[in-house]
Amino acid sequence: MEQVPAIIGDVAALALGACVGSFAVTVAYRLPRDISIATPRSFCESCERPVPWWANIPIFAYLASRGHCLMCGAPIRARHLGGELALALAALYLYVNFPPGDATARFIFITLLLISSLVDYDWRLIPNLITFPGVPVGFVLAALLMPEVGWQDSLIGIAAGGGLLFVTGYLYQLVRGQEGVGLGDVFLLAMVGAFIGWQGVMFTLFFGALLGSIGGLVVGLFGTPTAAPELPPVAREATAAPSPAVPSAAGAQAGTAAAVAAVSIEQQAPDSAAAENEEHALLSTAVPFGPFLSLAAGFYALFQPQLTSWYLSR
Ligand SMILES: [Zn+2]
Repeated sequence: MEQVPAIIGDVAALALGACVGSFAVTVAYRLPRDISIATPRSFCESCERPVPWWANIPIFAYLASRGHCLMCGAPIRARHLGGELALALAALYLYVNFPPGDATARFIFITLLLISSLVDYDWRLIPNLITFPGVPVGFVLAALLMPEVGWQDSLIGIAAGGGLLFVTGYLYQLVRGQEGVGLGDVFLLAMVGAFIGWQGVMFTLFFGALLGSIGGLVVGLFGTPTAAPELPPVAREATAAPSPAVPSAAGAQAGTAAAVAAVSIEQQAPDSAAAENEEHALLSTAVPFGPFLSLAAGFYALFQPQLTSWYLSR
């Protein structure tokens, strides 16, 4: 092993991470729109024409085209570069600092977090198609490949993550009379528990809530209130079945019934809250909570050894 120059492994990890990052951004675009992940091949999101082969090369294609489609000139969203860079660096870091199996399990987890964050950011929905399978996959990987987690902590993590947030959401709804934590968050946190155990859930909840509060405050103070995005095509199909004429807010409620469908409604339509009263704008969940949870969970997945030893040394 030592004969192979370390740089080759490093570059391979970077390249693999960048490719998976590119794939993750594509999945996050296609999943809610019900476009197959396999076909059609990569196309411009504006003019929908297929991109030349070299435009699939992660990072370089974005930089070479200066972030614009070469055919129609439309800007390519910076998340392509951001997602590719983030997963490239994560892959390199994990490759250098963890045994191969452990590193792979953590990388899969971070990829799932990235996809669900992007979907959540766009649609304020967390895709169950990602988080549902993420629970058993996380459990198996934690049991077999992640000695610092193991099957017991993973199992408790699933119960803690799913259960805790469900109870929190229920209490919030009782007190505030509106949905603050949706089922999407519950499933996301169950997946987090499966991959990084109950300790990871505690970390994720605490720092996710902290980051989310800061993010919410920043948006509340400086951002312009945004209307709730439309339901993505897959959710529309799912919610249209029971009652075709429901407005989007009621459709969102009906979405709980459709939780087994591809997506579930993460939080209640902020447009009704915004119209209701402006002064509550800071308190209501105007920003999706999921990406903040994912950020904290991803941080824990990368730095679990350091965080654990720091915690135990206190
Ligand atoms: Zn184009």
